[in-house]
Amino acid sequence: MLTAKSLFDSLVGQLKGYRPEEARAIVFLLLEHYLLLRRTDVVAGKPVPTNPPQPDWDELIQRLNNHEPVQHLIGTTEFCGLEFQVSPAVLIPRPETEELIRLIVRDYAETTGQLNMIDIGTGSGCIAVTLARFLPQASVVAWDLSPEALEVAQLNAQTLLADVEFEQRDILNVGEENRLFECVVSNPPYVTLSEAEHMETNVLRYEPHLALFVEDQDPLLFYKAVADFGQQHLSIGGACFVEINERFGPQTQQVFEERNYHNVQIFKDIHGKERFVKAVK
Ligand code: GLN
Repeated sequence: MLTAKSLFDSLVGQLKGYRPEEARAIVFLLLEHYLLLRRTDVVAGKPVPTNPPQPDWDELIQRLNNHEPVQHLIGTTEFCGLEFQVSPAVLIPRPETEELIRLIVRDYAETTGQLNMIDIGTGSGCIAVTLARFLPQASVVAWDLSPEALEVAQLNAQTLLADVEFEQRDILNVGEENRLFECVVSNPPYVTLSEAEHMETNVLRYEPHLALFVEDQDPLLFYKAVADFGQQHLSIGGACFVEINERFGPQTQQVFEERNYHNVQIFKDIHGKERFVKAVK
């Protein structure tokens, strides 16, 4: 009889190039997704069920050993306790961005008045959908340049019953826009191309460069555009919340200060890195 534990150990043993705890986390995700086995089933030595049938483990292991993200194999990831679909067209939601959500929800949880929010560069829709779910009083709009990303985001909003209005728009070329928002949120591309050589293969090879990279000559390009957008389209007292490159905290802060925002604050992530900026108009 094959137990969940022996299958788990065998799969972990076949993964190459991962840290041990990373390999274990990946295999837990695989067992849960393909065989509906929970961590406790593995530890308790439960027999592997015959239904659902086992997937082609060799193929899955090969893809993982080729650095393909496990989220692409199973097609989903968890973000703020919600299950999001992902594809190679979108950045896989990161734990840091969950912290950005926490900052925003903390500020607006008690708000009863108008709360129009816009998420610029929504990708999988994780920010927009989560805000719409956690702040039911908010009206949420989300932009992305990529039609393929918007399809994924739309699907997530439908599946997770979030009311979000998606639009294919370019923050670098806004054009006609008359709305006012109380809150502008963005996790734009912020990794400079010269940083690419230090990135992990799974990110570099399988995640969309459109969502990740910005040219070294103007690493704050998207923050300038977001801050300019806020100047035009934030109501007085409204705020921008952005996720940032930890190398450019003070410079990003300056982008907002130069545009007459006040209380421009930098927040650190759980790793102690300067990761978010909040700026009030
Ligand atoms: N933090 C992400 C990474 O390092 C990048 C996110 C972004 O560019 N917005 O992979």
